[in-house]
Amino acid sequence: MLPSRDGPSRDGPSTDAPRRQGRPIAADAARCTGCLICELRCSLRFEESFRPARAAIVIRRQTGSRDEYRISFTDGCDRCGICARYCSYRALVQEPAGGAA
Ligand code: SF4
Ligand code: SF4
Repeated sequence: MLPSRDGPSRDGPSTDAPRRQGRPIAADAARCTGCLICELRCSLRFEESFRPARAAIVIRRQTGSRDEYRISFTDGCDRCGICARYCSYRALVQEPAGGAA
């Protein structure tokens, strides 16, 4: 497992694409292992390189915990669903087509 970073909030991806276009992403922090694959995949989309600090999803270790994490999204997230597709632990699940908004 990669270490989760603590530190200041990031500025998010540098894109002018419209936001919040896709279906909602449900985040279940209890399932999150802190692997950071979601951050890597999101940054690859926006930056064409692995730059987690530019991802639109933010994984942070809970203060005082070794294995509990918080999951949040920046305003740069357009719900493309890539992070959910690559989360092997089902901590991120995109609402299926036709589901409630
Ligand atoms: S949300 Fe999923 S992919 Fe992202 S750090 Fe947690 S377990 Fe890994
Ligand atoms: S839904 Fe897309 S833009 Fe939003 S955090 Fe996941 S990969 Fe990044």
